[in-house]
Parts: sequence; C-alpha cells; structure tokens
Amino acid sequence: MRKLLFRNFFRGPLTEPAPPADEAALAELAAQLERAARQRLGRTLSIREVDAGSCNACELEIHALNNVVYDLERFGLRFVASPRHADVLLVTGPVTQNMRMALERTYAATPAPKWVVAVGECARDGGLFAGSAACVGGVSAVVPVDLHIPGCPPSPTALLRGLLALVETVK
Ligand code: SF4
Repeated sequence: MRKLLFRNFFRGPLTEPAPPADEAALAELAAQLERAARQRLGRTLSIREVDAGSCNACELEIHALNNVVYDLERFGLRFVASPRHADVLLVTGPVTQNMRMALERTYAATPAPKWVVAVGECARDGGLFAGSAACVGGVSAVVPVDLHIPGCPPSPTALLRGLLALVETVK
C-alpha cells in the first residue's frame, strides 16, 4: 500500500489537459443563439434531453453545456425536467426497442411548436448499432426529426451551432 501511494505521489496525472476553450467565440455563439430565439420565439429555448439508447458519450458532451466552461444558462438556455416545458427535444443514440415507447410519449407530451434534434451518428441511422435486434434505428424511425447534429460525439460547440441553425429556420 505504501509503495502504491509513494508511486502515485510522483507519477503525473493520468488525465489529459482539457483543450483550451475559445471563450470569446463561445460566448458570441451562445449570445447569437439567445438573440435568435428571442426574435423568433419571443423567449429563450427550453431543452429536454432524451437518451434513447446512447453509449452516454453524447450525453457527456451535452452535459458539458451546463458546466463552468460553457455555462449555457447564462444565456437563458436551459434544460428542463419535463417535456411539457420544452421547445426542443435533444435526442441521442439509436432508438432501442425499450426506449421506443418512452420517446413516442415524450414527443406526444411536448407542446407545439416543438422541434426534434437528433444528436450524433447513432441518432441519424442507428450508427454502430444499426441492424441490432435491440434497436429500432435512428430517431426519425420513431418521431419526425427537424435537424441532425453529426459527430461521435458532437462537441458542445457543434451542439450550440446546431441549435442556432435550428432556431434560424423558425419562421
Ligand atoms: S454517436 Fe457515438 S458517442 Fe453518440 S451514442 Fe453513438 S457511439 Fe455513442
């Protein structure tokens, strides 16, 4: 035990340093998103995240939007606990057989106008899991999809760009 503690004391950290975040570009992107949402919807966006069967790496990137680096809430964008309070459903993963009904119910519970964003390669067409007996397929196999954000997983910046592109299409 002492040997292990001694070795760990002198060994450097095993994690890699985080890539430098471009604070100014990020803030500008999020502020653009807030402005576009206020202009087109009259309010900021409320987002409900739905994991329909992902490996959770997409969730890690989505969660990062709320951490101290990205801090999406400072721009009024927030994740909500109920689809009844959401404008956007952010759906990850291939849709598994077990999650199909939950996704259908979540979609039905979201008030119009509503938008569905499929996040990651699996959400497009099942990705790595396509053809599995446990999967229905991509998100569009279950509910209508308005936008797909590519990546495996997409970065928080890509997620912000995708949400901005979505809001800019709203008439
Ligand atoms: S797109 Fe990649 S990161 Fe996202 S759920 Fe699929 S395998 Fe995981």
